[in-house]
Amino acid sequence: MDHFIYRNGTLYAEDVPLSEIAANVGTPFYVYSTATLQRHYQVFDEALAGMDHLVCYAMKANSNMAVLRIMADLGAGMDVVSGGEYARAITAGVPGEKIVFSGVGKTRAEMHAALTQGIRQFNVESEPEMRVLNEVALELGKVAPIAVRVNPDVDAKTHAKIATGKSENKFGIPISKARAVYAEAAAMEGLEVVGIDVHIGSQLTDLAPYEAAFSKVADLTRELRADGHDIRRLDLGGGLGIPYTRSNEAPPLPMEYGDVIRRTLGDLGCEIEIEPGRLIAGNAGLLVTSVIYRKEGEGRDFLIVDAAMNDLVRPAMYDAHHDIVPVAEPAPGAEQHPVDIVGPVCETGDTFAKQRDLPMLQAGDLVAFRSAGAYGAVMASEYNTRPLIPEVLVNGDQFAVVRPRPTYEDMINRDTIPDWMT
Ligand SMILES: *Cc1c(COP(=O)(O)O)cnc(C)c1O
Repeated sequence: MDHFIYRNGTLYAEDVPLSEIAANVGTPFYVYSTATLQRHYQVFDEALAGMDHLVCYAMKANSNMAVLRIMADLGAGMDVVSGGEYARAITAGVPGEKIVFSGVGKTRAEMHAALTQGIRQFNVESEPEMRVLNEVALELGKVAPIAVRVNPDVDAKTHAKIATGKSENKFGIPISKARAVYAEAAAMEGLEVVGIDVHIGSQLTDLAPYEAAFSKVADLTRELRADGHDIRRLDLGGGLGIPYTRSNEAPPLPMEYGDVIRRTLGDLGCEIEIEPGRLIAGNAGLLVTSVIYRKEGEGRDFLIVDAAMNDLVRPAMYDAHHDIVPVAEPAPGAEQHPVDIVGPVCETGDTFAKQRDLPMLQAGDLVAFRSAGAYGAVMASEYNTRPLIPEVLVNGDQFAVVRPRPTYEDMINRDTIPDWMT
């Protein structure tokens, strides 16, 4: 369930009609629902009830500061993958002891910043990284808490670009090497082993890969404890999928995911961390765009909208499906026509959907792309010098722009002309 529903013939975000936001901020724009974001966090929190746990929001899905404040106010931890994200978490008021630092290529500068300002744990992904972290910690006279990210070699059965738990992926260390790597870590004075980390991919729609990965983590926990390591925390990553279509797919519920965790790892007495991103933000956001032209081609019609692949890259990058709905509710039984929905960018990849059945829409009509709250705004670019589109947050009957649209001047003035040209 989300909070984007038709009322009085028009699509609302909570208690605000989208047409009102469009009239105020112009199109295209992203809009997020506070109530949906809160609810999704709580669903995860409840799924882990009875186990010592921390839900660390994976902010790479949507790192708008207002979204982060909502999560921080709920008591969420954060999973960050760059120094920039770490700075956002701190600025949003998340204490260092609730921030987990993930990512395969952490730099010395990033390690330095997190060690000085506070960190719950680094999820270390390789031996070279582990050695550098040890050095940076020793230079600062600190001890870095670490979990080693293990690659359990399970097939997450998701899109190839977002599967991360197979041995051919760049992530983590092979689980078969884990005991040797933990032994090396334990001998380093700048590091303190606190747990194990695993993350097998994103948009998982089946619990079996989780079950397989978590069972391997349970075995490893026992082995590492027998080797003398104090494994007290298990970070299970994120990746639970969301329904991108209303009709068919129904990914497992967070409650069922929680049951898998309880069944596979519940008896180990470890604190459980999870890092959901997409499931928290995805269905809490829409992209709203206007039709610029309806173009009749040979054998197919095109709706050219004012959003493009630079604003929402998922269809071009992952062949992703987004449900697309008119903001004005179609009359019951209104005739539908197949159309291709495309943006104005000069690339054939700038196609959001092919042969989608929609009522007869005309220039000026508003349409909404559903499930656009995660990996939407954060992946946007200014390709074609198209301004980053504004982000709007709704809370009940209130709404506010939480990132404004830059002006052309803002964009152009970021570039500078070298002295020798003036
Ligand atoms: C991307 C990522 C997540 C979040 O994945 P979702 O599919 O958005 O839940 C969590 N942890 C790590 C390490 C990631 O790379």
